Amino acid sequence: MMNLSGKKIAVLGCGRSGVAAARLALARGAAEVCIFDANPAATCSEPGTGFVPGATEEHARTYAADLVILSPGIEGDIPWTLAFTAHGAPLIGETELAWHYYGGRIIAITGTNGKTTTTALLEHVLTAAGKTAKACGNYGYPLSEVALMEPQPEFAVLEVSSFQMETIIDFCPEVAIWLNFAPDHMDRYTKVEDYFNAKLRIFENMRADQLAIVREGEELPGITPRRVGFSSVVTTGQLYFENGAICENGQVLTPLRGTALEQAHNAENAMATTLACRAVGLDDAVITAAIRSFCPPGHRCETVAEMDGILWLNDSKSTNLHSTEAAVRSQTRPIILLAGGKDKGLDYAAINPMLQEKARACIVFGQIADQLEQTFAPVCRVIKVTTVAEAVEAAHKVAQRGDVVLFSPGTSSFDQFTGYVQRGECFRNAVKNTLHL
Ligand code: ADP
Repeated sequence: MMNLSGKKIAVLGCGRSGVAAARLALARGAAEVCIFDANPAATCSEPGTGFVPGATEEHARTYAADLVILSPGIEGDIPWTLAFTAHGAPLIGETELAWHYYGGRIIAITGTNGKTTTTALLEHVLTAAGKTAKACGNYGYPLSEVALMEPQPEFAVLEVSSFQMETIIDFCPEVAIWLNFAPDHMDRYTKVEDYFNAKLRIFENMRADQLAIVREGEELPGITPRRVGFSSVVTTGQLYFENGAICENGQVLTPLRGTALEQAHNAENAMATTLACRAVGLDDAVITAAIRSFCPPGHRCETVAEMDGILWLNDSKSTNLHSTEAAVRSQTRPIILLAGGKDKGLDYAAINPMLQEKARACIVFGQIADQLEQTFAPVCRVIKVTTVAEAVEAAHKVAQRGDVVLFSPGTSSFDQFTGYVQRGECFRNAVKNTLHL
């Protein structure tokens, strides 16, 4: 517990996490809480707290807070944020604050890709086993809302981003999952090491008797918790993937064929979930049954249609190269890849060897269409179009029985859409129109 009594607290950011943090701080004895947001148009009507929209560095210095709580969307090292600490107040993240007031067990999940799928899966399995569990953090409730629940759930399944880990002090989960790591968010970090080191802080306060569940092959220097591994690529870990099933010591543990998690990258999410659920005392039979009945959140290699022997997959949530790589690797049929969107400065040549082996054609669209055309042309047939609807039409023309049409853009969507959800819906609708479904 922290001692908030008599303290004057500045909460930065009036989104859902910031408001929840403000409510928690007030409920736990803070003398005064004020929410600040740099956006002049921001609105907030949280009873009992002050609110300053359009807050400037001048407001920050004048307020003279005793403690500053940062929402995950705001950077911790920009002058605006630092102005709130000008009088020496400590700066912590919303996750750190909530951690002090949540009395249940925390399973934390990080990685470049697969966090949300794994978080949702863990919540599903724990709930199926009769536990109370809430998906929270980056997905679902802010942890502060979970800390305010009465009674608190037994488990917080906490998706954490690198940004949230930048502002922890004592935060310590009982079990931490490290799914994978690849460069991303280079708009926020100047060096890949900074992104990696921020994520690595998930293990910072963990003890040797606690558990780190880590994909085989990930180099994590100097972490203290006991480490257990999994992989869909190699068989060296505790759990591995063979013939469409999660296996252990030469035995099948969980067959995944015909389930929503049958693709190799989702098998990794299921393996990490299995190890975490075992660590908190669940039986294998319960875990296996629950994994097999899980339906992942949409836009993540989701089946949109299967017609004339052609499978249409919507992986709009693929906003970086690593997730497209995983989606391509997971396919067992010839691929028509639909990729493109906003220029994030990534080098797509990294997936060329896989495309050469598995892709019948690539259909490229959006702001980076020219760049992708040049990159992929040496290894497979490339068709350049402008919109997602045109990409679907082109795919329909070139796809043959037995193919998979994989919509896995590999970058963000903001050149043409408000986000991956709208982009995925556009793809779904275009497929339905083209196939007359
Ligand atoms: P996150 O919350 O980390 O963004 P999601 O579960 O939302 O992860 O999935 C994001 C993208 O990554 C999707 O395109 C999905 O198909 C892909 N993906 C899911 N799990 C994995 C994994 N274990 N490894 C690589 N890619 C994955």
